[in-house]
Amino acid sequence: MTDGLIAHGRLAGLDEIAGVGVDPARGGYSRHVWTPAESELREWFTARAARLELDVETDRNGNLWAWWGAPGPDAVVTGSHLDSVPGGGAFDGPLGVVSALDAVARLQATGFQPSRPVAVVVFAEEEGSRFGVACLGSRLLSGAITADAARALTDADGVTVAEAAAAAGLAPEHLGRDDEALGRIGLFIELHVEQGRGLIDLGSPTAVASSILAHGRWRLRVSGQGNHAGATGMRERRDPVVAAARAVIAVEQAALATDDARATVGRMRIVPGGTNVIASEVDAWVDARAATDASTRALVADIESRVQEAVAGSGCTAELVEESWSGVVEFDPELAARLAGTLGGVPLLPTGAGHDAGVLNGAVPTAMVFVRNPTGVSHSPEEFAEADDCVAGVEALETLLRSVL
Ligand SMILES: [Zn+2]
Repeated sequence: MTDGLIAHGRLAGLDEIAGVGVDPARGGYSRHVWTPAESELREWFTARAARLELDVETDRNGNLWAWWGAPGPDAVVTGSHLDSVPGGGAFDGPLGVVSALDAVARLQATGFQPSRPVAVVVFAEEEGSRFGVACLGSRLLSGAITADAARALTDADGVTVAEAAAAAGLAPEHLGRDDEALGRIGLFIELHVEQGRGLIDLGSPTAVASSILAHGRWRLRVSGQGNHAGATGMRERRDPVVAAARAVIAVEQAALATDDARATVGRMRIVPGGTNVIASEVDAWVDARAATDASTRALVADIESRVQEAVAGSGCTAELVEESWSGVVEFDPELAARLAGTLGGVPLLPTGAGHDAGVLNGAVPTAMVFVRNPTGVSHSPEEFAEADDCVAGVEALETLLRSVL
């Protein structure tokens, strides 16, 4: 690989941030919104945009916009996010941001003059890793979550979004739907590493997105009786950890019984969490996804009834509460087909992963480009994309921008 975009075997932009937010305990990266690591990424983005003479602004909801030309209506916007899941990979999010900056740089290098405003965007808290609601920045921007609901969300330390936003220099009272920022978007194109194995067999480094599965998050709280691990006989217990273990298996069984469904418990909290303590409460978070809104709702209803069955007789109670919901996203088929055609007939591909583009779809014309992931692994330190494929992604984005500007 001799392309000037590449340094140390990866896109140079990814190489520049390779040391930011490294998580030695989990492996990979933990880059959560408004933490020192994420702030460092914002500074890196601002400096890199400045090198392209883009003007960077932070909107009322903490999203970053780097403008090529004066901000204005009918803008072509591209970008993604810089935050990560706990122990995430190097590509999910940053690949879209770096590719967007590189595509703009390549246009500039050829003396291209855009006929519409162009912006590179970085959406805040896409993963929802700190405050629990995915795509928080784009949801606030588009009004998909109310400002009051967002302000009250808390992180693991009890810090609210309002407090964290204020500490980051935002005015929490100004969080919420931003018609001015939204009204400037004429077209949003998000490039993203594929989070599945769809492109492996299609023999193409890139694809255009067709749809996103319905998905949401639910908090499963199992309550029992906290007690002494030595003084409480096995038959006298109301142990929520044991009940929660049965509940997690019930979640898996429900998903296995539904076509194309996925349900995951990837996070649990045991209260109080002592080795010689029978817990009083367990919180487990359920991520559930399926092909249609109705089948996802049916899956969650099935989870609920199987969970109740699983904990029955344990002396514990279980409660399932919705924390976030995203219906099926169908990207504009005409736009997707047109962009796929502009790229020489690349495939159209559905995905099971949520994205800011999915939140904005419906509010503004939206499309996505996927870059091949040779293992399909994502949300993991092993997440990967070949340098050649990343360059193909930048070139695809450049081609698309050229075609609409
Ligand atoms: Zn992502």
